[in-house]
Amino acid sequence: MSELLVSGGQVLLPDHSVERADVLLDQDSGEIVDVGDLSGDDELDASGGLVIPGLVNAHTHVAMTLLRGYADDKPLDAWLQEDIWPVEAELTAEDVRVGTELGLIEMLKSGTTALNDMYFFMPEVVETVESAGMRARLGYGAITVGKDDDAAREEMRDGLAFAREYDGAADGRIRTAFMPHSLTTVGAEYYREFVPQAREADVPVHLHANETTDEVDPIVDEHGERPLEYAARLGLLEPGDYLAHGVHLDGSEIELLADRGTGVVHCPASNMKLASGMAPVQDLLDAGVPVGLGTDGAASNNDLDMFDEMRDAAMLGKLAADDASAVDAESVVEMATRGSAEILGFDSGRIERGANADLAVIDLDAPHLTPAHDLVSHLTYAARGSDVRHTVCDGQVLMRDRDVQVFDERAVRERASERASALVERAE
Ligand SMILES: [Zn+2]
Repeated sequence: MSELLVSGGQVLLPDHSVERADVLLDQDSGEIVDVGDLSGDDELDASGGLVIPGLVNAHTHVAMTLLRGYADDKPLDAWLQEDIWPVEAELTAEDVRVGTELGLIEMLKSGTTALNDMYFFMPEVVETVESAGMRARLGYGAITVGKDDDAAREEMRDGLAFAREYDGAADGRIRTAFMPHSLTTVGAEYYREFVPQAREADVPVHLHANETTDEVDPIVDEHGERPLEYAARLGLLEPGDYLAHGVHLDGSEIELLADRGTGVVHCPASNMKLASGMAPVQDLLDAGVPVGLGTDGAASNNDLDMFDEMRDAAMLGKLAADDASAVDAESVVEMATRGSAEILGFDSGRIERGANADLAVIDLDAPHLTPAHDLVSHLTYAARGSDVRHTVCDGQVLMRDRDVQVFDERAVRERASERASALVERAE
């Protein structure tokens, strides 16, 4: 058995207490063997640091890193139609590969070990995630609006075929989902035809829902029901399914989510930047809805740093609830770790014997992390992605002393800059 001892640090335990402990990892099984006062041959130095579960970014579009800073300061609908979709129409498989490499490097450098990606050219994303050594739930973002019936059905078939073919890839580190883009960009008839096939293939369904009022109102007008009632009628919201955003939800929809066990991935930065609104996160938590955290794509954020996202979630959650005690630091850390991991179906997000050996070591030797009254508070309100010293997934060290082991960072940055410029030129 090949083992790695993460030694000398303090450890964030599942009950949010912090203890001085070592963490022993089995690199063959990819599991945590033990937590305590331990010894081992091969060591990863965590002294002066805090060992936390690897962060889980439960909703993003990774290759959108190529569009970071390309179009800002617009509402969702105009931003998608005028800026994002025309450029995305020009994307090549190689663009997506390089944009994904860039995004995964950014995630590893900010302590993220697992992610959910909804995008295009997904076989390239599978290869890239596999090389990165990370864990992911992946799906093709299918859109039928603006397409004729043949093209629309092909789009849905592609999404389903991807989910079938790649589920369990990379020794199980990669799982898939069927990912119709949203309730307004995919027609009801296509949900009716293809969702049962996703059930048969035993993959969950992930989509954007209730993100903006522009998305909610047309469904209410046309169908005379709330979007999530409509979704349930189309066969969605089964256990294992999960939605991104859930900003504009009424009480009955929150109840429905709780009854069905459907998860919501909160994306506070994107919701603020596109002025989409404030998700009722404390209400979701109180109702027992599984809640995770995601950055959404880098074009609406504009980074993939989950520490920024945690801080935003706490701040916006208080504003939304008009209550400074809402969405507290512990809830936020839980959302970014075990909450997101459970939504994606991974046994990660907790430093405990038997869990996946996915973790990050945070350097506490910094003025903005001094003094250390409460390290959970620091994780939510004060720490930054650049404080991460090491990142480990499946027992393998993917970043050591801020040096990403799995990609040539400088070469990827250069290639991504070139690809992004050429892409925008083609689109314009
Ligand atoms: Zn999204």
